[in-house]
Amino acid sequence: MAGDYAVQVVELVKRYGDVAAVDGLSFAVGRGEIFGLLGPNGAGKTTTLEIIEGLQRPDSGRVRVLGLDGAAQGREIKARIGVMLQASSYYEYLSLAEVLSLLGGFYPRRLPPGELLELVGLADKARRRVRQLSGGERQRFALAASLVNDPELVILDEPSAGLDPLSRRELWGLVRRVRERGATVIVTTHYMEEAEESCDRLAIINHGRLLAEGSPRELINRIVSAEGGAAYAVKLVTAGPLTGAQLDVLGRCAIAAPIADGNTCLMRLSSHPAALQDLLDEAGRSGVVLEQLEITPVTLEDVFIELTRG
Ligand code: ATP
Repeated sequence: MAGDYAVQVVELVKRYGDVAAVDGLSFAVGRGEIFGLLGPNGAGKTTTLEIIEGLQRPDSGRVRVLGLDGAAQGREIKARIGVMLQASSYYEYLSLAEVLSLLGGFYPRRLPPGELLELVGLADKARRRVRQLSGGERQRFALAASLVNDPELVILDEPSAGLDPLSRRELWGLVRRVRERGATVIVTTHYMEEAEESCDRLAIINHGRLLAEGSPRELINRIVSAEGGAAYAVKLVTAGPLTGAQLDVLGRCAIAAPIADGNTCLMRLSSHPAALQDLLDEAGRSGVVLEQLEITPVTLEDVFIELTRG
């Protein structure tokens, strides 16, 4: 039933001239989820979000947002969602509290500036100007600004981009708090580790098409079991770039074709105890000088690379 979803995207198409930015995309976001929309640069994430937000019209297909029709009920939708764009600018001459008060004035339902600033840990900076904030504080303020109308759905386009690791952690903590308050969150990010940790479900897209949809664990398990239990991701750092012949030999020990870039080579190995030994033996025999070897469980990043390469 449509009402059970916060967002349904159905066979969406959006073209810019010859470029199909979104090309028959369908996915659904459950109410109360933190849903990650992932994809390489130019995959169509922002365009998809802009259609959900009512900022763009699709060429075909449709979106339902909070049970409302995106094409016919855009005004009602806008009143009930909050949006944090990739870059935002605010009135320079107003304080944080004044900006929030001004933005809130556009909505019938609104939260007090004090409560919003408290939520994002900026209560003591209510009288500051936006330009007086650090990058991390500015992103937290932008998040607060997206919540002025107490939205049921919050859309965040790369909220943690450009932040230091601690600020990124803080930001994701806030995203979880927004969800705990009852909102659904759709978020884009290029940080796979963060998506794996914080998103309940994800869609991975490329060239405007869906490649996979599910929880991080489901997506990881899907490639692990598709390869008969490829349990480990291996990263080799070598003294020099691998030759084509060396890559072929090492590739025969791995489950999926290795991905080599300069002195680094990523591959996946079966969980069989002999697999690693074989790899090391072959590396030694073919004259590969190993500087570093990392073995980790398969992560969302491996899934992302596997699905989007080529
Ligand atoms: P990124 O991760 O880099 O932000 P994205 O996944 O958000 O990328 P989009 O911004 O949706 O991708 O762009 C999808 C495709 O549509 C790209 O090829 C882009 O160049 C193209 N595109 C986006 N907006 C326009 C526009 N206004 N005019 C022409 N082409 C556009």
